[in-house]
Amino acid sequence: MLHRDGHRVTLYERFETPRPLGSGLMIQPSGMAVLDGLELAHQVARRGARIDALLGIEEHGRTALDAPYAKLGIDGVFGLGIHRASLFGVLFEAAQAEGLTILTGHEVLSSELCAAGRCLVFADGSRSRPHDLIVDASGWASRIEGGEGQGLLPFGALWASVPVTGDDPHARNLLEQRYRRASQMVGVLPIGSRADDAPQEVAFFWSLPREDHTRWCDTPLDAWKDEVRALWPQADFLLERISTHDDLTFARYAHRTARKAHGERLIRIGDAWHSASPQLGQGANMALLDAWGLALGLREGRTLAEGIRNANLWRRDHVALYQAVTAAFTPLFQSDAALWPWLRDRAMAPLSRLGPVARVQAQLMSGLFGWPLPMLGLDVPDYSAIAASMAARASSPDQS
Ligand SMILES: Cc1cc2nc3c(=O)[nH]c(=O)nc-3n(C[C@H](O)[C@H](O)[C@H](O)COP(=O)(O)OP(=O)(O)OC[C@H]3O[C@@H](n4cnc5c(N)ncnc54)[C@H](O)[C@@H]3O)c2cc1C
Repeated sequence: MLHRDGHRVTLYERFETPRPLGSGLMIQPSGMAVLDGLELAHQVARRGARIDALLGIEEHGRTALDAPYAKLGIDGVFGLGIHRASLFGVLFEAAQAEGLTILTGHEVLSSELCAAGRCLVFADGSRSRPHDLIVDASGWASRIEGGEGQGLLPFGALWASVPVTGDDPHARNLLEQRYRRASQMVGVLPIGSRADDAPQEVAFFWSLPREDHTRWCDTPLDAWKDEVRALWPQADFLLERISTHDDLTFARYAHRTARKAHGERLIRIGDAWHSASPQLGQGANMALLDAWGLALGLREGRTLAEGIRNANLWRRDHVALYQAVTAAFTPLFQSDAALWPWLRDRAMAPLSRLGPVARVQAQLMSGLFGWPLPMLGLDVPDYSAIAASMAARASSPDQS
């Protein structure tokens, strides 16, 4: 976005070469609006899987969460489950095609003001040339913020991407979860396929307290599988495709908001500014909205400082709202508490089936609560066109 606006952009990245990491995430209508603005929505959608609702059932069969996108009242709208490598691939190829300068193998330690701008300080002791503006997009453990691992939550999760076939008994258009109180959660999210000739996959996840991870590594895999089966017997066909501990990656989650979202010649976007548990599935979408807000802010600002202030102003209320909502919701789904899941199942779930509440729930899930798009000159994209290009890919899988 910044490059297209005529800025000379240099991207510093710590890895040497990209490789697929992690598992699935959800692109919500909010994030899809940004991808559409970048003319990348169709490409991303062709790699993903259509998700029509989030369905969570507790151990005794009671529905704890039923959140269909249809309750938004927007024609044809849906969520998109996708492997994070697919999203990365589309964005990376677009950045390369724009001719951006991409410098890998550069681990940033900090930044400092210098005579002609702001410089980055790298792990090998070298410094970048001065830049007019440093955009910190280095994720929740940003060194520029100072201090790795702030705000780590007690619960993380084991994740695996598992190939599936057309005959497998899983719901193709649902993000499904099963809960035992709030201390155990198993879930399956369809995430499409990473390449035209690659199999369809689902992301499988199992919540786990951080402090139990080492113990889990020492537990025989079959004992763990029995525990999962006891909560969700239908997940057995996926468990059979997980053969070693190494097939699962443990993801830690952090809830934090940077003390200063911006400073002189510096602005933070995405997780470097604010990160949260993925319970509401918003992080990547918020990062996309921040990036769009930054480009727009700089475009409309008369000076760099005004551009930075604009970017912050147009995003900060939405960010604060979602940080608060995620902080409130996370203990309902990932905690050792007994009262919260009890209230979730007996009070909140029935309440959320009432029309206006169901609509607010759908707005929250889709990233549209607090009206973030109009402020950024964006609108929910045409989902019938997106669905049509997904269907076209399904019928001719050899065309990318
Ligand atoms: C298991 C899991 C599930 C999730 N599910 C969802 C979901 O369903 N929906 C959703 O929207 N979000 C989800 N999220 C959150 C989402 O992944 C993040 O919010 C999103 O990736 C943030 O994007 P970002 O670009 O700000 O940071 P990141 O994706 O963390 O990217 C940071 C980049 O900076 C690089 N970097 C880091 N440190 C340095 C350094 N010191 N020097 C140089 N480079 C550096 C990294 O290599 C990386 O390329 C999930 C997260 C997890 C862990």
